Amino acid sequence: MAQLWKGAPVAAALTEQLAARAAELAGRGVTPTLAIVRVGERPEDLSYERGALKRCEKVGIAVRQFLLPETAGQEELLTVISQINRDPSIHGCLLFRPLPKHMDERAVCQALSPAKDVDGITSGSLAAVFSGSGAGYPPCTAQACLEILDYYGYELKGKRAVVVGRSLVIGKPVSMLLLGRHATLTICHTRTADLAAECRRAEVLVAAAGKIGAVSAACLAPGQVVLDVGISVDEEGNLVGDVDFAAAEATVKAITPVPGGVGAVTTSVLARHVIEAAEKASR
Ligand code: NAP
Repeated sequence: MAQLWKGAPVAAALTEQLAARAAELAGRGVTPTLAIVRVGERPEDLSYERGALKRCEKVGIAVRQFLLPETAGQEELLTVISQINRDPSIHGCLLFRPLPKHMDERAVCQALSPAKDVDGITSGSLAAVFSGSGAGYPPCTAQACLEILDYYGYELKGKRAVVVGRSLVIGKPVSMLLLGRHATLTICHTRTADLAAECRRAEVLVAAAGKIGAVSAACLAPGQVVLDVGISVDEEGNLVGDVDFAAAEATVKAITPVPGGVGAVTTSVLARHVIEAAEKASR
């Protein structure tokens, strides 16, 4: 039976460390502050926002919400971003995506000041992740995968890691973070010739396809550690990941559940990035 690597204890440990850092900042008269920018009211954004608000409250981060209707124009959104960039009391910004189709998402992301880009959406942050320079912040979900491995004491050096998915939000950045820890990396996608064979070779398998069942029983092997990043809604309305969970439980060494796995750590990583940004800005 696989170990269940839940996100809650990882998030709790991070929150405790962060609350101490937030208190230290408060002692110096600095209130770490996150701006949340949401266009429209997509249920998944609202749900993530509730989680982020709760996490920030626990840590001691103030939140300012900038809420625009779905019909808002790009100029209106750019004005909000520019206001956030210029406001020294705001240290980080979370912008919900995808943006409505009538907006140029790349242009909006690029408008955010790199110093406040706590979720890795600007080219500058991604370049830092790819160059391994340590400057800038990786996307929170990608970093959450590493936090889980660290918390459960998994040493990545020399391990064969396979990532399913190559998006700029998860697949590519998590691949670079794994490479940065000296894993030997394979990245799979929809054109991969034999996904099951590639995945079976993995010692660490990160599933970020966003497709129910993309990582089937044939992809799994004994001894593997499996991080299931996917979030989908099945026919019964349940949240499920990419991995055949029953098969994984019976086969692998450890698996993160959905819900309650990687997703449960993401807001803590966001909070850490805001604290780091506040520390940098107040030096
Ligand atoms: P995305 O932009 O749709 O990218 C999915 C990637 O997976 C693509 O590279 C695609 O390949 C690949 N892929 C899809 N189906 C596949 C299959 N059957 N076999 C192999 N590769 C396949 O999605 P994303 O934004 O990266 O998000 C991925 C998942 O993570 C989604 O379920 C999303 O909801 C979830 N997510 C979770 C969190 C969290 O906190 N846990 C946060 C954000 C997102 P191609 O490039 O060839 O198309």
